[in-house]
Amino acid sequence: MTSRRQFILSSLPAGALLLSGTAKAEKVSENDPQAKGLGYKADATKVDKSKYPTYVAKNNCANCTLYSGKPNDSQGPCGVFGGKNVTAKGWCSVWTAKS
Ligand code: SF4
Repeated sequence: MTSRRQFILSSLPAGALLLSGTAKAEKVSENDPQAKGLGYKADATKVDKSKYPTYVAKNNCANCTLYSGKPNDSQGPCGVFGGKNVTAKGWCSVWTAKS
């Protein structure tokens, strides 16, 4: 069975990932319909843990494989959101550990 995370990752257009490092710095809003659907929070400590039990406290955008911000930046591009910026301390249900 394909998980929601696997489905989203496999359906990303290749360009979204390629552009993620160079896209203009538009910031993802928590009220964006896609962000709401994925449970994105700009501050991971605000994640609804009852709704997203896979959330683990140390996980955030900065250590997600889809985040392409620089190590000390407060925000950076995310491939899931077409290269728009997410906060380094944010989180969404697509979080995948950097390898
Ligand atoms: S957890 Fe990963 S996929 Fe989700 S918003 Fe942050 S960088 Fe993007």
